[in-house]
Amino acid sequence: MERSHLHLSEATGLERARLLQVVRDELAEATAAKKCHSCGCFQSTVSALETTASAAEQLSEPLAEARRAFVPKKYDCLGCAVCFPASAANAFAEAFPEQSVALDLCPTEVPKQRMGWPPLPGDFEVVRYQAAVAVCTLNSGELVAALVARRPSALSIAGTLHTENLGIERVIKNVLANPNIRFVVVCGEDTQQAIGHLPGQTLLALVRNGIDADGRIVGAKGKRPVLKNVSRDEVQAFLGQVEVMDLIGDADLGRVLATIERLGARAPGPVVAPLHATTFPSIAAQEPACLIPDPAGFFVVYPDIGRHRLAVEHYTTDGSLDAVVTGRTPAALYTTIAERGLVTRLDHAAYLGRELARAERSLETGEPYVQDRAAGVTDAEKMSTGCCGADDRRAGGCTDAKCKPE
Ligand code: SF4
Repeated sequence: MERSHLHLSEATGLERARLLQVVRDELAEATAAKKCHSCGCFQSTVSALETTASAAEQLSEPLAEARRAFVPKKYDCLGCAVCFPASAANAFAEAFPEQSVALDLCPTEVPKQRMGWPPLPGDFEVVRYQAAVAVCTLNSGELVAALVARRPSALSIAGTLHTENLGIERVIKNVLANPNIRFVVVCGEDTQQAIGHLPGQTLLALVRNGIDADGRIVGAKGKRPVLKNVSRDEVQAFLGQVEVMDLIGDADLGRVLATIERLGARAPGPVVAPLHATTFPSIAAQEPACLIPDPAGFFVVYPDIGRHRLAVEHYTTDGSLDAVVTGRTPAALYTTIAERGLVTRLDHAAYLGRELARAERSLETGEPYVQDRAAGVTDAEKMSTGCCGADDRRAGGCTDAKCKPE
């Protein structure tokens, strides 16, 4: 998809006259439609237009007619897929961009940033940080769940997008915070009867035309396509970081997955100088120094080949067998063992999970299974070396309070 540069919208005299006629026609449609008379959308648009100098001068008659049609408001917005007042407001904003800030039809709040990635919360699912593709499924929420269930390796995040302003601002900020994302796939259904926004068309308009001096996305047809909470630099950095793929209207899982895979194969790597990358502490993992026995006891794990099951014997610390747990999967065994309190240390639980996975592989492949010992130095070894061994003590390797040098 072609990338574009930001530019200001300048309506010529003729174009302005044409746009004013669009405003009159759309206001007339709303004035004639009974459903609009009690709709907050219609009433707030007329009130907002009345505050502008150009509308007061050139649209006084249709605005007065519209106001005469008002009846007490019954709903804020009926959510029509085509909204006449929204079209009127957008045409007016195109004709008089300098006055369009007054058309605050759908007020936006400053989104609250949080630690980590993605910095702004929203209706999305994170798959992995170090992947190149983000997917906006617009109003097709079920597609998010289907994509996340498949977890394609190039997919970083998938979520819906319902609004032209806050929604797109969140996409921009969350993408900028992850330099690995180089593609945004826009797919799924773009209209929603209950809301009446056009976020997909607006996102593509942003890519093609940019924003005007007031942050209005040029050529966007949605209700209020104005970005208030992102800077011009952020918009430019977003357009430079990602390529936006237009699959609007397509909610076919297979085609979206194929697109993600194709894009992943040509991912150029992370952005070199990202504008707002989220930073994380880098933690170097260390080998365990001490083996602290689990006060609940220890396990003997084996594949029961005859019954084609996994088996775990649990022994108390004095060496007496107190339980035998059998099942078909590691998850069934470790869940049962944890629920019954047969494991009380996290490192012991992790060890059990690892051994169950090895025993399961042996059951499936027929490879011999020998239970591995847990990592770290045992009590007996401590007796001969003192605590975790001289090297560990010197290096300050053991931090467990129960394991002190003697
Ligand atoms: S949403 Fe728009 S078109 Fe629908 S009733 Fe309200 S003002 Fe009229």
